[in-house]
Amino acid sequence: MHKNIQEILLSEEQIRNRIRELGVELLRDYGDKNPVFICILKGAVVFYADMIRAFDAHCEMEFMQISSYQGTQSTGSVMILQDVKQDLAGRHVVILEDILDTGRSLQAVCKYLEAKGVASLKICAFLDKPEGRAPGITLEADYVGFPIPNAFVVGYGLDYDEAYRNLPYLGILKPEAYAK
Ligand code: 5GP
Ligand code: MG
Repeated sequence: MHKNIQEILLSEEQIRNRIRELGVELLRDYGDKNPVFICILKGAVVFYADMIRAFDAHCEMEFMQISSYQGTQSTGSVMILQDVKQDLAGRHVVILEDILDTGRSLQAVCKYLEAKGVASLKICAFLDKPEGRAPGITLEADYVGFPIPNAFVVGYGLDYDEAYRNLPYLGILKPEAYAK
């Protein structure tokens, strides 16, 4: 275990097993729809790479990058730094995101994508912090890997100031690891 990790919340094996189940759920709902899976960079990239390989049917890949968080605090503002490359009109789209917290970033992304005339739009979040939702946000994920308590987590794509994304498990940082 990494020296700055206090506790492993989700092991590689737990994650692997859940991804397999999510792949089956997505296959049931999208197996004949040639869906477009959108990866929200950078946090979802590890989850995305595993999920698309757990989906055993035709699909297409797109990538978006939005800015939301700096450090451990939500800034509240959302900017689209990188957009999808293909026309999404009439397509069945699934957003794959690392974590649904306040819901502000995904709400903005959904509004933006709906305006492109998609046939359907759903959210598949690796993690959900149900307690984190900002006031007035009613958005929920359609597929959730794991609900987690309101703690700051890293690993499996999630960072603290760009570090720890490559940890193969999900963990909680030691308090002293925040001091830079
Ligand atoms: P929100 O739902 O608040 O708009 O933002 C979700 C984004 O906040 C995620 O994509 C992720 O980048 C970041 N985020 C929220 N909670 C955590 C966390 O516990 N750890 C990390 N590393 N990022 C988080
Ligand atoms: Mg993120």
